[in-house]
Amino acid sequence: MLPPLPKLERPWIASRAEAERRLAAFLPRAGRDYAAQRNFDRGPAERANVSVLSPYVRHRVLTEAELLAAVLERHSPSGAEKFISEIFWRTYWKGWLETHPAAWTRYRAALDERLTELAASPARRRTYADAMAGSTGFDAFDSWSRELVGTNYLHNHARMWFASIWIFTLGLPWELGADFFMRHLLDGDPASNTLSWRWVAGLQTRGKSYRATRDNIGRYTGGRFALARPLAAVAPALDEPSIPIRALPALPTAVGAEATLFVLHDDDLHGDLADLPPGVRGVCALRATACRSPLAVSAAVAAFEDALAGESVRRIADAGSAVDLGLISADEGSEPGGAGGAQAAGRALCAAAAACGATRIVVAFAPVGPVREAIDSLRPIAVAGGATCVEIARRYDAVSWPAATRGFFNLRSRIPAILAELGIGSG
Ligand SMILES: Cc1cc2nc3c(=O)[nH]c(=O)nc-3n(C[C@H](O)[C@H](O)[C@H](O)COP(=O)(O)OP(=O)(O)OC[C@H]3O[C@@H](n4cnc5c(N)ncnc54)[C@H](O)[C@@H]3O)c2cc1C
Repeated sequence: MLPPLPKLERPWIASRAEAERRLAAFLPRAGRDYAAQRNFDRGPAERANVSVLSPYVRHRVLTEAELLAAVLERHSPSGAEKFISEIFWRTYWKGWLETHPAAWTRYRAALDERLTELAASPARRRTYADAMAGSTGFDAFDSWSRELVGTNYLHNHARMWFASIWIFTLGLPWELGADFFMRHLLDGDPASNTLSWRWVAGLQTRGKSYRATRDNIGRYTGGRFALARPLAAVAPALDEPSIPIRALPALPTAVGAEATLFVLHDDDLHGDLADLPPGVRGVCALRATACRSPLAVSAAVAAFEDALAGESVRRIADAGSAVDLGLISADEGSEPGGAGGAQAAGRALCAAAAACGATRIVVAFAPVGPVREAIDSLRPIAVAGGATCVEIARRYDAVSWPAATRGFFNLRSRIPAILAELGIGSG
């Protein structure tokens, strides 16, 4: 019999107000305290050493720019250096994937293959099932697995240890683990998740993998686990053909004034009301939770994303006296992301535009991932239905992503210039 799941420090509430409350509570600790304490995973009941804001930041109910501005209002750039740099890790992964989209498409194709292969390998199937059920016999790993399924969040260090044990101790394909995360993390993100798993596997920084050790886990979990079963003593980096590079896509940050249907989605719910296009007559959100994975995504993730999207649409509609046109599913009536879903979603967008008297549809820019794929499939249908579709990007992305094509440390060295260009932290 497995022990009961520990309780979260605070339950997840899907709203902008909750994100603001969490930010306000965390801000005093975002400076040197964060730098000193962030690596400790003291369990779900004790998360005060990290912000636990990722479910909100990932959906841009709270934006990176807002976080940076808030932290720099409270702390000096040097005092908050670590927290700022972690926010830029998110920016880095997003920007990097824009110029290396094959890392995502390869992962998706390999995931399908790994799932198919399970049918022919009963032993691997059993290990995979045990890993997801938290019954491998590796006590820390089992606890994180059940924490992930039960709370839809894991501490960063636990994610690193978990991925390392999944790949190198249990011998499971990294793609299956990345998919397990995508199905259960509220913050499940195509860039941060895929590229972090690749990093642990030794694919992202080629030849350099991450090995979880008993000592490191014991030290940073405060001795909560017995850690009796030995972990892999080596972590040979995986290998692959190199990922092709493409130019950064166009990131237009302004559009002319015209009667507009504004389309939000899981990658940008515009919680900050910033960078809205002019002339918004109606607002809706494209929902794509099921497109995260070929397998069923956690009902808690779907409910959280639905509630956040519904609230954002209402808030923007209220602020701009526009029509609330609700949620449009990108995967209804077909397999996730399939043609039937795109047909229905494309038609629904045309109908929403007509309902609010919009002469064009403006979509918040969607980076590489399931939402991008859904938009690419439904756009021709909306255009065939008579709609004009354009995208609008965030200045934050347009300014930061060009610095994310090389290593993280290149981006990190440009943080002061990026902040200055964006006018963040300048008083
Ligand atoms: C294997 C693995 C998978 C991951 N999958 C995801 C994912 O799907 N979605 C996701 O948002 N993050 C992912 N991360 C990164 C990181 O673990 C989480 O962003 C972080 O734990 C979120 O908790 P927090 O908000 O308390 O972070 P804090 O430590 O408070 O950091 C503040 C913010 O900075 C960003 N951030 C912090 N660390 C990282 C990081 N290493 N990489 C990218 N952004 C970071 C997040 O937006 C976070 O909300 C993954 C890391 C690993 C090792």
